[in-house]
Amino acid sequence: MPGDSLKVNINGGATNRNSYDAIVIGSGISGGWAAKELCDLGLKTLCFERGRDITHIKDYPTATKKIPGSSRIAAK
Ligand SMILES: Cc1cc2nc3c(=O)[nH]c(=O)nc-3n(C[C@H](O)[C@H](O)[C@H](O)COP(=O)(O)OP(=O)(O)OC[C@H]3O[C@@H](n4cnc5c(N)ncnc54)[C@H](O)[C@@H]3O)c2cc1C
Repeated sequence: MPGDSLKVNINGGATNRNSYDAIVIGSGISGGWAAKELCDLGLKTLCFERGRDITHIKDYPTATKKIPGSSRIAAK
């Protein structure tokens, strides 16, 4: 029927792909942990972080720094 073409779904699943159960802003210790817990509960979670990408270990310049007088062992 003329007009039926207006009922064709042209969304292609985009709404489903871009819908989330939870959105977390910031992936610091609070947001990062909240996002982890939400994911563990099986919720589809989106996390936004405005900061730069951080590579584990490599980008922690002071994490393995030898502190004078401490017995902390530096990671390799
Ligand atoms: C110099 C310094 C030294 C510290 N040393 C210690 C220490 O030795 N031990 C200790 O226990 N605590 C320390 N703290 C405190 C500790 O860093 C904070 O208590 C902790 O990081 C707070 O966590 P948070 O997740 O609330 O915030 P944050 O860690 O600040 O995380 C917030 C995140 O949200 C992001 N964000 C903000 N706005 C937006 C936005 N609009 N869109 C997207 N992303 C956004 C930010 O980029 C950031 O990554 C220190 C803090 C500072 C400043």
